[in-house]
Amino acid sequence: MQCKVCWSNEQSNENPLLNSCECDGSVRFIHFECLKHWLAQKMTRKESNNDQGKVVSFTWKSFECELCKHAYPYAFRARGRDYRLIDVVDKELPTNSEAPFLLLESLTFEKNSSRNVHVVLPELAAPSNCESNPDLHVFKMGRGHDTEVRVSDISVSRCHTLVKFNSSTGHFQLEDNLSKFGTLILSK
Ligand SMILES: [Zn+2]
Ligand SMILES: [Zn+2]
Repeated sequence: MQCKVCWSNEQSNENPLLNSCECDGSVRFIHFECLKHWLAQKMTRKESNNDQGKVVSFTWKSFECELCKHAYPYAFRARGRDYRLIDVVDKELPTNSEAPFLLLESLTFEKNSSRNVHVVLPELAAPSNCESNPDLHVFKMGRGHDTEVRVSDISVSRCHTLVKFNSSTGHFQLEDNLSKFGTLILSK
């Protein structure tokens, strides 16, 4: 058992050797830290501010093993522990437990192995940008360049969905913006 990146066979609870993909033989194992470091180098981070707060977006063009093309999950469970591959995202989350945020993670469909993670962070002190309800902070989600939560996919409308944070209830809500293919929630 040795890591296919650093060739070491040492492991610990913090840094186990994972069987993370479909690769076999001498390239079967990789350290959690080696895999996380490699994925972090392939990541781009973008920040989008509007007068309602900010959205931090992470993009990976591919989130898969380069050899066998197996898509990696966001987290592994091994030895009864969870190992999160994208804990770089956690640094963006508010340290104040009262502060609201919404974490959106893309799923893998068919051959598309790109991944997107968005952290929506409403600024509570900011005045609402919603004329009909002063409690709502509104962020646009879609393919257009003027959206805060940008999803570059041909099936996504320019302004597909509105992400709304209600400061009086503390809840987020999604509102479809008459998009071509609609906004659906996975039952899983
Ligand atoms: Zn290693
Ligand atoms: Zn592989």
